[in-house]
Amino acid sequence: MRTLPIFVVSLLLLSEILVAQDFVVRDAATKKNLIDSITFYALEHQNGYQMLKELCALGTRVSGSKSSYESIVWAKKKMEDLGFDKVWLQPVKVPRWERGNIESCILRSKPLKVKESLHVGALGGSIAANNITGKVIEVSSFEELQSRANDVAGKIVFFNIPFDQKTSVTFSSYGKLGKYRYLGAAEAARYGAIAVLIRSLPSRLDTVPHVGVMGYRDSIKQIPAAAVSTIDANRLSEILKRDPEAEVLFNQNCRNLSDTLSYNVIGEMTGTDTSLGILVSSGHIDAWDKGTGAHDDGAGCMHAIESVILFKQLGLKPRHTLRTVLFMNEENGSRGAEAYAKSIDSDKQKHVAAIESDRGGFTPLGFTVDKDSASIQRMQSLLPLMENCNIFYIKKGGAGVDVGRMKNVPYLIGFVPDSQRYFDVHHSGNDIIDAVNPRELELGSAAISSLLYLLDTCL
Ligand SMILES: [Zn+2]
Repeated sequence: MRTLPIFVVSLLLLSEILVAQDFVVRDAATKKNLIDSITFYALEHQNGYQMLKELCALGTRVSGSKSSYESIVWAKKKMEDLGFDKVWLQPVKVPRWERGNIESCILRSKPLKVKESLHVGALGGSIAANNITGKVIEVSSFEELQSRANDVAGKIVFFNIPFDQKTSVTFSSYGKLGKYRYLGAAEAARYGAIAVLIRSLPSRLDTVPHVGVMGYRDSIKQIPAAAVSTIDANRLSEILKRDPEAEVLFNQNCRNLSDTLSYNVIGEMTGTDTSLGILVSSGHIDAWDKGTGAHDDGAGCMHAIESVILFKQLGLKPRHTLRTVLFMNEENGSRGAEAYAKSIDSDKQKHVAAIESDRGGFTPLGFTVDKDSASIQRMQSLLPLMENCNIFYIKKGGAGVDVGRMKNVPYLIGFVPDSQRYFDVHHSGNDIIDAVNPRELELGSAAISSLLYLLDTCL
């Protein structure tokens, strides 16, 4: 092991002492009053909720779709009207996939005299299914699929893995299931399957398919993939137990098209000292098309816009430049995040922190920070100031899919609301404006705005 020269050690110690000045809260009472006024203003005016209503009224927002362009135009004009100093579109090439208008899956069992429709939805990126008829093999893991490899050829593989209810952290249960949705088709096709049905990933029983992105592998044949609602998944499983020869007839006319031009929408409020750099507040403007992406991630977009504009509404002049970034294409490619991260590196734009809201518009709980424990500990000194906007913890954790791409930004932060109801709506027809509670949404905007304020004063 090499020893560091003494002056390098001294420099390191000095920089540690300087860094340790971060998050020293001066004038705590004044700051707390100010944060309270941010919260009260957001709750009283509910501007974010009104904006979310407008966004959701435009329809669905799959990358490259007509209504995704309408939402880009809407967001740009909204930020201009609200008085951002600068608003612009950042071009980005996105993959394009269309759902089509046919999604049908009929379950048939002659001995049981069953002929029923199952609620299915094509997974994003899937190819079409033209009158695919086959017996169904139900599996509960990739390991089981592999152990029954000789029984798969010519059949439809049904991945029936229920949501793990034994944790309060619903994202960890969801995380365990994501691989079946994303890789299920490729894994099943490896053994000769003709299609896959994936049990929808939500935490509760309902009759709507919860969709999401899937992917193929270059060397493996592409087969169609769809999500089946949780109630229909239970029904299919029950019928298969009684009649293993039961069949389904499966049709969907979704299709992949060539990449197309789209945009990130960016708005900026110029800081009083631009040398300090930029603080980002972000969400993603694309959404799956079964609902209108009210929680995922319309709510995050409203948080991103409102958290910045609350400064203007309260007459606050930030020292850092505050930037709202609405990323395109988080759901099926993260191309918007990739383009943004590349641009800030190549243009040498100094970013100090980036916050992402992509966990719905529910009651705030805390923030996760992708950073070393010592820095996080220092950030925790901010907590007493944020209790009125319902922020109870700052802890180590991932910041989010989009801001996670910015490798050189010192503070990457994820907004964490309560997640018990998120997967009831996630990627489904349930994700509509009626599923959003205005007060919960506004508390989120207030929490993020308060953190921006504290980062602005402390960094
Ligand atoms: Zn999302």
